[in-house]
Amino acid sequence: MKSGRRIIDMHVHTDDSPDADIPAADVAARAAGEGLLGIGFVAHVDFHPADRCRGAFSAEAYSRSLERAREMPGSPVLLTGIEVGEPHLFIAEAMEKADGMCLDFVTGGLHWIGERSVLDASGFAGVDPLALVEEYLRVSVEMASDASIDILAHLGVWRRGLARAGGRVDIDETRLWPGLLWRLFEAMTDRGIALEVNTAGLRRPESVTYPTASVLRFYRECGGRIVTIGSDTHSESHAFYGLSQGVEILASVGFTEAFGFRDRRPFPYPIKA
Ligand SMILES: [Zn+2]
Ligand SMILES: [Zn+2]
Repeated sequence: MKSGRRIIDMHVHTDDSPDADIPAADVAARAAGEGLLGIGFVAHVDFHPADRCRGAFSAEAYSRSLERAREMPGSPVLLTGIEVGEPHLFIAEAMEKADGMCLDFVTGGLHWIGERSVLDASGFAGVDPLALVEEYLRVSVEMASDASIDILAHLGVWRRGLARAGGRVDIDETRLWPGLLWRLFEAMTDRGIALEVNTAGLRRPESVTYPTASVLRFYRECGGRIVTIGSDTHSESHAFYGLSQGVEILASVGFTEAFGFRDRRPFPYPIKA
């Protein structure tokens, strides 16, 4: 998987986020070497009181870091984004923090349901996991209906926390909550919000994309067409992991193109499995 992946990886963190350690310029150089079409950089912009990235975002430092990446010779297309945690609650604060930046896109990521992190085993302690997942979907509908975001990140990332808690993750949301998913996808298509295929789950025990192929098929049946592909890279060791498999999954459920965002507007490019 070293060359010719004509993919825009729309979910790449840099050392501008406290939980990531790879400089933007290094990511750009590596992407050029691997033949990627482009990178959508994101930095965490978080306000949840218990989030480790809370308060860490600096628009100035992040902008400088992306400038250095753009100076690298032979860089692929480099797009500027932020990942706002719980945007239904914090989008206004996040946009204030990013004031002055020319953002190509804003990604919304749901990591917390109240005081419970769906990314960690502790989030599932003492609760019925299905009830928490259902609540995660309800809040996702709220996010897609209310928050000014361009991309909905890693739908189904609760599998990471549930797998860590020792729970079964072979849950088919399309069977259990088709009505909630339909409402979610209706809100997204109405508002032009893209659904991300996040490939980070492929390197974890749950070994699936977020969302799964089944949910992606349902999204397409509901009329969803705007999809992005993202590896959720945080370090050198797993940079761009699973992108080709993400494309294969998209193609297998009928998608022939994926999207990037520039100036907060989607643009398509063809994908080949
Ligand atoms: Zn996230
Ligand atoms: Zn992320």
